[in-house]
Formats: sequence, C-alpha cells, structure tokens
Amino acid sequence: MLGKLGLQLVKLDLPFRLNHVNCFLAEGEDGWTIIDAGLHNKETVQRWEQELAGKTVTDILITHYHPDHFGYAGGLQEKTGARLSMSEIDADAGMSAWQDHTIKAIRESYVAAGIPAELADKMGGNTEEFIAAVTPYPEVDHYFQEGESVKIGKYKYEVIFTPGHADGMVTFYNKEKKVLLSTDHILPKITPNISYWFHGNPDPLASYLKSLDKIKKLDADLVIPSHGKPFHGANNRIDEIKSHHEDRLTETLDAIRQSITVYDACGKLFKKELTIHEMRFAIGETLAHLEHLRHREECRREEENGQWLYFI
Ligand SMILES: [Zn+2]
Repeated sequence: MLGKLGLQLVKLDLPFRLNHVNCFLAEGEDGWTIIDAGLHNKETVQRWEQELAGKTVTDILITHYHPDHFGYAGGLQEKTGARLSMSEIDADAGMSAWQDHTIKAIRESYVAAGIPAELADKMGGNTEEFIAAVTPYPEVDHYFQEGESVKIGKYKYEVIFTPGHADGMVTFYNKEKKVLLSTDHILPKITPNISYWFHGNPDPLASYLKSLDKIKKLDADLVIPSHGKPFHGANNRIDEIKSHHEDRLTETLDAIRQSITVYDACGKLFKKELTIHEMRFAIGETLAHLEHLRHREECRREEENGQWLYFI
C-alpha cells in the first residue's frame, strides 16, 4: 500500500506504553525526503544510519514538535545537511518547551493544579529528562505555509494546518489519491492526546475539534498515521473520536459537581495506575477538557490558596 505511493515506513521503537512511532522515507528526483525523526536516543541514531546508508537526503519534514517526532530532527539535519521544514508555531514550541524557565513554570502550574509537591517535582523532572532526547535543536530552513504543496515520493501533497494535538501540527493530503498522512491528528486505535499545558493555545480541544471538521470535509480514503497501521475511511474514525470527546466532556462535568482541583478531577477520569510520564498527559488532557468547558461557559474556575478549583 505504501510502496505504491513511493513511501517507506521506518517504524522506530519508543520506550513508552505507546511503543513506536512511524517515520517515513520517500525517494524524490534529487534525493530522499524524511518525514519525522523520532526520539533522539541510541536506537534511533543506529536505525537511521542503517536506513540512510548510501542515500542522499534532501529534505526533512517535521510534522510537530513532540519528542517522538522532533527529537532527532537536529541530529539528522547535522548528519545529512538536508533542508528542514516545520511550522513556525511548532519550531518556536520545540525550542522553548524544554528550556529552564518553561520547566520551572510548568512545575509551578502543577502545584496550581493541586498535584502534591513531591509528584509535581517528579513530573517536572520527567520533562527535564527529555532534554537529551530532543537536542540538538534543528535549524529550520523553511516554515510550512498553509496550503503549500510538497512533493513526497511519487506525489504532491497539500500542507494542511491541523492545530489541536500540537498548536503547530501539520498533516499532508493528496487530493487525487485521497491519501492523508494524518501524523498524530487522527490515529486508528487510540485518541490523540489533547493537552492544555498552561501556556499557548487557551482552548486546544476547541482547535482540535475544528481541525477534525476541517479534515472531514476532505473525505479522505487512505489514512497513514504516525502511530498504528494505515486504514481506510477517515470520516468514520473522525466521528468516533468526536464522540469520545463528547463522552469525556460529560464525564468531566460529572466530576466537577463539587468544586475540585485538576488533580482530583484527573483521578476521577483516569482510573488506572499511571506512570509519571503518563500522569503528565493525563493532567494535560483533564485540563484541556476543563478549559474547553470553561470556554463554553459550562463551568467556572476560581483560585483558592494558589490552587485552581473547577465547579459547575
Ligand atoms: Zn506522536
């Protein structure tokens, strides 16, 4: 299926419950294009060395700034000298997300979320542990523009901005073939994490739902995601994801009948045991739903003793 499009899958292992990321290689007229770089660690470096042996790489396309996609971008660029493209929003996000002042601000926000100090420290520490996995930072040669055309393998794709999972996320769409490289915007098995990170987009869930509707208009047939296997029928999956968020919003409203911290609301929404890394995403996801409800004026938020309390 991918071969017909001139795409080669480079599936990299990840040391998380979500245990892999799909990167891609495509041969163009002057050389190869890479889509997403993976996390910067030993395994990734070795794997790309094997994959790229004897190949000239002309372009590196980064879909968004999250570590499993952006982490080795700078390293790959150093090795290949290729032209690197990503959105300006996510280039900025990638360069600032792991800076000291951002991590310090996140620690403080975790306390405002009602997370016990010791856990908040561990969660901040977990963010810090990613620095090695996302550096060196790349030098971005080109910022993607909405609607621009990029050649990937045999075909041209339109760059479509789909904020939500990341503020500056891009997906690639080929109209004739109805093929969508959905990256993390639409995933087959799990729902993409939508997090509010205490800065940036004030209502990422609203952006995400809007981006889903934007893609729905395309009625894409083949969806090639960054996690999991390609599948047919974007719109069925979009409907499932939208109804998941409607259910989640209802559960969130239920959780805040009495005034509650983000941490306690998170405990009601995520019942299974979470690792420190997963807890960061669970808190982010809980906050995204709470803030979405607040922007829809379905709940309120007050600050008490330095903590955010949500209630209806
Ligand atoms: Zn991802």
